[in-house]
Amino acid sequence: MCKQCYREEISNFDSQLDFNDFYDEFKIKISTGILTFKKTFAGDFLPPKIEIFGIGVGSKIIHDYDEYECTECMQKWKLSIPENAWRGFFLKSENYY
Ligand SMILES: [Zn+2]
Repeated sequence: MCKQCYREEISNFDSQLDFNDFYDEFKIKISTGILTFKKTFAGDFLPPKIEIFGIGVGSKIIHDYDEYECTECMQKWKLSIPENAWRGFFLKSENYY
């Protein structure tokens, strides 16, 4: 358990306010060098699992995210910012594609 970055993952932000609270703290961790930015992923679709008459069924979107790394414990985190109906997330890298 690392005290520098985060203990818990957020599978989705309940509200914009909820995200703002998170993001204020997050920006401090960036500016103090606890977390460093690694890369941006623009999002993608998984290949369809089944094809029915040439139409892919079961394809799933991989949401866009930014990846960060904790300089203390080297844990990588993926942050997806909420937008409209999308509630975003903040997850350990290994738990999202
Ligand atoms: Zn950490």
